Amino acid sequence: FLVAKQLTRVVGRESQRFYASASVPTTKLYINGEFVESKTDKWIDLPNPATNELVTRVPVSTQDEMEAAVAGAKEAYKTWSKTTPLTRQGLMFNLQNIIKRDIKKLAANITEEQGKTLVDAEGDVMRGLQVVEHCCSITSLQLGESLQGIAKDMDLVSYRTPLGVTAGITPFNFPAMIPLWMFPMALVCGNTMVMKPSERDPGATMMLMEMTQEAGFPSGIVQVIHGAHDSVNFICDNPDIKAISFVGSDQAGTHIYERGSKNGKRVQSNMGAKNHGVIMPDANKESTINQLVGAAFGAAGQRCMALSTAVFVGEAKEWIPEIVERASKLSVNVGTAPGADLGPLISPAAKEKVLRLVQSGVDEGADLLLDGRDVQVPGYEKGNFVGPTVLHKVKPDMQCYTEEIFGPVLVSTEVDTLDDAIELINNNPYGNGTAIFTTNGATARKFTQEIDVGQIGVNVPIPVPLPMFSFTGSRGSFRGDTNFYGKQGINFYTQVKTVTQMWSQQDAGVSKPTTAFPK
Ligand code: NAD
Repeated sequence: FLVAKQLTRVVGRESQRFYASASVPTTKLYINGEFVESKTDKWIDLPNPATNELVTRVPVSTQDEMEAAVAGAKEAYKTWSKTTPLTRQGLMFNLQNIIKRDIKKLAANITEEQGKTLVDAEGDVMRGLQVVEHCCSITSLQLGESLQGIAKDMDLVSYRTPLGVTAGITPFNFPAMIPLWMFPMALVCGNTMVMKPSERDPGATMMLMEMTQEAGFPSGIVQVIHGAHDSVNFICDNPDIKAISFVGSDQAGTHIYERGSKNGKRVQSNMGAKNHGVIMPDANKESTINQLVGAAFGAAGQRCMALSTAVFVGEAKEWIPEIVERASKLSVNVGTAPGADLGPLISPAAKEKVLRLVQSGVDEGADLLLDGRDVQVPGYEKGNFVGPTVLHKVKPDMQCYTEEIFGPVLVSTEVDTLDDAIELINNNPYGNGTAIFTTNGATARKFTQEIDVGQIGVNVPIPVPLPMFSFTGSRGSFRGDTNFYGKQGINFYTQVKTVTQMWSQQDAGVSKPTTAFPK
């Protein structure tokens, strides 16, 4: 079936360059502008989450391959860092056009490897594309500062200069968007980058590499290695890598932040979440219910900004039956099926974890208002599907509340007042996102002022900031001090160099050596 599978791949002719034509398809490395077959003897199977049939095998890069990737990026940095911002801007414009042209191809690959619906996969690409579009403003974004005449004939200028070789480590849930948060920003600032995409769906990254080639990016400025823990540790330890961008789970993020920082690297680490939606009784009922259901179950709950916890304030609890009813009508299907609302989970292990946490909620006393555990998708019986599930009357000490479920499960609770809701959310260790639904401006203002969460929506369920701002998850959802993309992204991928200079028409008049510190 592998051969048949290969013939029916939907990723387009370009894929031939990074999948072998032998009987078992393999994902290539991308080193110095070439798609190369790994010499490894360790491979990770990548199954389609809707069928669990093998799509490709992903290599665990060898030490030599990883070293070659970093050495190539270090060499390429020598010339790339000297290119003009206008040159880099021009290449970003090219890349933007190519990604736009190929959105559907990228989306097809994402659906095949990751499982999300095609329409959602297009959103994945679009949100990454917006970062590339923002990078096209590099001629303004990378401006330094200056102050003329700080002393006689003396001026101060600061420049934002690149760091060197950087690295990007990405999760499975946004195979296009998150790599696009990283390499375009790193490159446009004059850095080079070694990417380590998720071993569970690296196909979109490989397609993006083809696009950088077509756009005219020089060889070696962006490289791709594959693997899991060992490849990540290699990145954390390699002395030529100056900075690491990571997005993924708490466990990996904490490890990478600590190991990378200890080795003197700059690290930004976006991690897990438990995002609460507060439903006030004065909210616009129709749109609130629809927004809540969409944000809880979209992408099968596998979004770091999924609204996975509902907090009903006062009489708003009367809407719960309607929420359950609307959730029960969502279509669970293979991502390519027209009208599918949610696809499968990434793996059988992910499904098992979701089922375990739902059961723990039941065992600990929550009300199971909707049970999607036995959902069947005709023709896809082997897929990792879970249908929308609602656990109500969840308490803060239950496992289904303390752990990130990362599946199509809405946990909900009732409180009496807005203050109670704020207290509950501020006591949760995560700070990625939250939302309030209300028609009262004063309520919204109090919430946005008192809540200790980095990204807040007011009648907006998934408040992911556009790339001219930054992704500002906080507390347990982030380690580091400079966030992803936007101004903070530019700061992350550059360092400041300050020049104090004196140019006098005549002799500067320094008549004798002065040993006192200048005042
Ligand atoms: P993951 O941590 O399992 O994998 C992310 C990357 O880290 C992969 O490239 C993987 O190879 C590597 N990795 C995994 N475990 C490791 C370990 N122990 N040591 C070293 N490297 C390791 O994450 P995932 O399951 O792919 O993604 C889902 C998680 O990512 C969720 O927790 C989700 O909330 C989070 N996420 C966060 C954001 C955000 O911006 N805050 C965005 C997307 C996803």
